Amino acid sequence: MCAAIAEEILDGGAAAPDHEIAIIGTGFAGLGMAVRLKQQGRDDFVIFEREPEIGGTWYLNHYPGCACDVPSHLYSFSFEPNPDWTRLFAPQPEIRAYLERCVDKYGLRDHIRLDSEVSEARFDEDTGLWHLRAGGRSVTARSVVAGLGPLTRPAYPDIPGIERFRGETFHSQQWDHDCDLAGKRVAVIGTGASAIQFVPQIAPDVQRLHLFQRTPPWIMPKPDHPIGRRMRKRFRRRPGRQRFLRRFIYWFLEARVLGFVVSPRLMKLMEHQARRHLRRQVPDPVLREKLTPDYTLGCKRVLISEDYYPTLSRENVDLETEGVREITETGLVTGDGREIEVDVMIFGTGFQATEPVPRGMIFGRGGRDIVDAWADGVEAYKGTTVSGYPNFYLMTGPNTGLGHSSMVFMIESQIEYVLGALRTLRRRDLKFLDVRPEAQREYNEWLQARLAGTIWNTGGCRSWYLDANGKNVTLWPGFTWQFRLMTRRFDAARYERAPLTAGRAMPVATNAG
Ligand code: NAP
Repeated sequence: MCAAIAEEILDGGAAAPDHEIAIIGTGFAGLGMAVRLKQQGRDDFVIFEREPEIGGTWYLNHYPGCACDVPSHLYSFSFEPNPDWTRLFAPQPEIRAYLERCVDKYGLRDHIRLDSEVSEARFDEDTGLWHLRAGGRSVTARSVVAGLGPLTRPAYPDIPGIERFRGETFHSQQWDHDCDLAGKRVAVIGTGASAIQFVPQIAPDVQRLHLFQRTPPWIMPKPDHPIGRRMRKRFRRRPGRQRFLRRFIYWFLEARVLGFVVSPRLMKLMEHQARRHLRRQVPDPVLREKLTPDYTLGCKRVLISEDYYPTLSRENVDLETEGVREITETGLVTGDGREIEVDVMIFGTGFQATEPVPRGMIFGRGGRDIVDAWADGVEAYKGTTVSGYPNFYLMTGPNTGLGHSSMVFMIESQIEYVLGALRTLRRRDLKFLDVRPEAQREYNEWLQARLAGTIWNTGGCRSWYLDANGKNVTLWPGFTWQFRLMTRRFDAARYERAPLTAGRAMPVATNAG
């Protein structure tokens, strides 16, 4: 007791937190952050995970055919190359196993608290500490790194009667493997990145598959192939080869930014390739017509598949394009009034991507809910910090998403930025760092101006990249190396800095910590 008081006096009255850093989530973001902290010799962190196992999105999504649509030699940590990927696009179980190996190799297991949902995090300006409710317990932390994942909260369509259906029903992210689809009549709603992976897997088993398409996606060939044992051995023996492949994939994908951002007209080349893919795989002109998009390629996420189009030509698959008027106890009524009875209804309807944090979870200065701070649309400074939410870092935050390359690259950029902030906090003995409102405003004005001419804003489609007001709050409008350059050094001058020992914020300085 006396020692605690003495410590507090020496500390200038500052309370010591239970943990210096609380990380939320064990996906690529949370684990990547933890590994880099360990590599810097820091042990003063805890990782809270809502689920009973680690992996984030790669734990949650386990639908049939679930795989990454970015080549795995790039979609992995730069500090942890994996020579053992068995395919160019690794399936979900391999990616999950990779993350498990990272946990063990870097000694993260003891830091992880499973089944510990962070239901609330509240900032106390007096102490500069965050008070968290995690797994029903109260803990404090000086800094919070939120690796919540941009695509974890399922979105359901607002179709009248959705609650009335009496058969079995689930979302692609909550796949019910106990539900035997063999011989059943199944409706799938949605034709996005998830659906085009699981539809070919379930179609051969079901009696009849009614696939409800609202907007046809652009689909390119998927250059997937197994990576043989000999090649994997070579990667292991000569890591330089694997590094070369990673760089090659990186720059190949990066070239697409020219079409997305610089000149959307360049997308015509890719459209040509996608149309040829469709012609080759769908001989029926009526079906082909239904599958041909009427917006510029790239406006929505470009999908890749070799087995989706052929599946739609199966005798037991119906592509429904008239929409769903309502859902009944026994099935659906289509837009043109047809009643379709089904046993199972699967929602491949995506996620609440434009609302990255649920209401009632994060409270900053003055007890303000972060959702209220975003009344005019979700935004952050460099996709990572939000004014009024000191020492709080959002991984895969607003406008850090990609339509063309690996999110792990963006995550690693953010990690280095956050490490810089944490170093600044420590070295300068600060209570907190809070990004200045004008820094956030200027950054977002610049960002939105850049987004205005991109294909996502002008390509003639409706996508989850844009919020209800048509503001693009999800995507990074540029090359990923530009984001890397922007985040490589923590720019303390753009932050209000409150010292631990005094009640006043420090004046603006120009050097990063
Ligand atoms: P999504 O891409 O958002 O697709 C949702 C689908 O549901 C769309 O076809 C959408 O139609 C349809 N939909 C939504 N509301 C509807 C309604 N009321 N009525 C009819 N249809 C409706 O979701 P997702 O397929 O789950 O993929 C989400 C994201 O996860 C992807 O974009 C990608 O970033 C990520 N993902 C990645 C991988 C990977 O391999 N790395 C795999 C799967 C998913 P509209 O197009 O008309 O809106």
